[in-house]
Amino acid sequence: MQITGQAKATKYIFVTGGVSSSLGKGIISASLAKLLQARGMKVTIQKLDPYINIDPGTLNPYEHGECYVTDDGAETDLDLGHYERFLNVATSQANNITTGRIYQSVIDKERRGEYLGRTVQVIPHITDEIKRCVQILGEGDSYDFVITEIGGTVGDIESLPYIEAVRQMRWEHPKDTLVIHLTLVPYLKAAGELKTKPTQHSVKQLLEFGVQPDVLVCRTEHNLTKSIRNKLARFCNVGEEAVIQSIDADTIYDVPLLMQKEQLDEVVLSKLGVDSRASLDLNSWMNFLQRYKHPESEVSIALVGKYVELQDSYKSIVEAFTHAGAACGVKVNIKWVHSEQVQASEVGALFEDVQGILVAPGFGSRGIDGKIEAIRYARENGVPFFGICLGMQCAVIEFARNVLGLEEAHSTEIKDYTPHPVIDLMEEQKGLAEMGGTMRLGAYPCALTPDSKAAKAYGNDTTEERHRHRYEFNDAYRQQFIEGGMIPAGIHPDSKLVEIVELPDHPWFVGAQFHPEYKSTVVNPHPLFKAFVTATMAYSSEASSSAEPHNRSEENNA
Ligand code: GLN
Repeated sequence: MQITGQAKATKYIFVTGGVSSSLGKGIISASLAKLLQARGMKVTIQKLDPYINIDPGTLNPYEHGECYVTDDGAETDLDLGHYERFLNVATSQANNITTGRIYQSVIDKERRGEYLGRTVQVIPHITDEIKRCVQILGEGDSYDFVITEIGGTVGDIESLPYIEAVRQMRWEHPKDTLVIHLTLVPYLKAAGELKTKPTQHSVKQLLEFGVQPDVLVCRTEHNLTKSIRNKLARFCNVGEEAVIQSIDADTIYDVPLLMQKEQLDEVVLSKLGVDSRASLDLNSWMNFLQRYKHPESEVSIALVGKYVELQDSYKSIVEAFTHAGAACGVKVNIKWVHSEQVQASEVGALFEDVQGILVAPGFGSRGIDGKIEAIRYARENGVPFFGICLGMQCAVIEFARNVLGLEEAHSTEIKDYTPHPVIDLMEEQKGLAEMGGTMRLGAYPCALTPDSKAAKAYGNDTTEERHRHRYEFNDAYRQQFIEGGMIPAGIHPDSKLVEIVELPDHPWFVGAQFHPEYKSTVVNPHPLFKAFVTATMAYSSEASSSAEPHNRSEENNA
């Protein structure tokens, strides 16, 4: 990185939000990071969440969408998934900090006597801890840019200490910090006009807290005219070139290109005094977009889960299909199937129009029967099947009951007493009383069984995948399963825990105890998702070739 006129220092970019939530700060942050990365710079993105939970691990998906897990086992905000998918760089616990974590650390220090004699207060102790958590990412030589997304909307009581920390950092390091404020410029249909007032108010609110944004990114449904840009610039104290339009896009993966067109990266670099001459290499990104937007065929895959009303609960799975579909040249249409609505009598009709079934991760008993029925249908009808975490566990239960004849086989998560606990609590989980952060979390190695579908998909005999669970395949039944036709295709080398199960006699039936979806990125689509999508394409072409003679004879009869 070339920095004009000063020694190299990490640059800190803060992204705040105004007017409304859900404007897409995560995508804007990830898009800017992508553009900087495409110029050869090292970038990381961090999310500061203003809620009191230590992490989102104990939150219901209805509250918070998916909980994204990092290699080091942090349970984090789903925006970190976007950061990894865009940048193809792993994040860690340091990339997601909550108010709960900040307070916990300050209170722990107080108990250790580190503030002895002093009153512990929001300013300076909480704000200092916030700044420490931001700057920790810039330590050493790791990153040229740290982009910090502040959760919530400016003016929320909860986010005040974060905004104050930003103000202090701007004051302490004026040349190395920058604030981007993301707002909404609504279109009033009745007036036929875009309105700048909400943005003006939002910037005024930031100014009340002592923060002058350097760049405005304006979400809008219509193009901002020159006069609107000028008005926004004038009333919000920013240069006209620093008013960036963020128009609604067909896909989140278009946003880096839209931001490039608006020269967001150049404005940011020039304001931070960084040479912006390095050319931009977005080749692999453009390649992906080209394939994604021009698929050669399509397949439909049922996603069976209990949170299908809130699709953010399965964010990484949906994106993993996007990546795998693009890699396979196929559009993957997801048919959302509520697991509580799967009835044994209607599975045929429910799944007749899909070429694959994915049973999603989850916790608790709701919808379990429907998941098991969906799996039975996939197994008996040769429909490609992919089970993830709870989905894999349900595949084990289904096989035990309907193939091995172990009636009432179950997971002890769902039923305390079952004569056949084929899924059981892991040894190290027994006796744990605390809920937060105590699951088997993060990346573990996995040895793949030679010649298995998994080994073929990975093209390797080992891998490393991220976990988030307490229950596990019960090893006491391993031999019985192998003899019955369900094999372990992946094993944790030390504990010998079964991480993948497969049916060798089925076109593609794979259950993974880990979450492959967390590691799928634009540049590196996940091998298991690619193999699953490929199997659905094969199933689809087989179905259409066996349907052809039938159709022809119908034509002949007509
Ligand atoms: N509830 C199951 C367990 O804890 C599965 C968890 C999951 O699907 N992430 O083992």
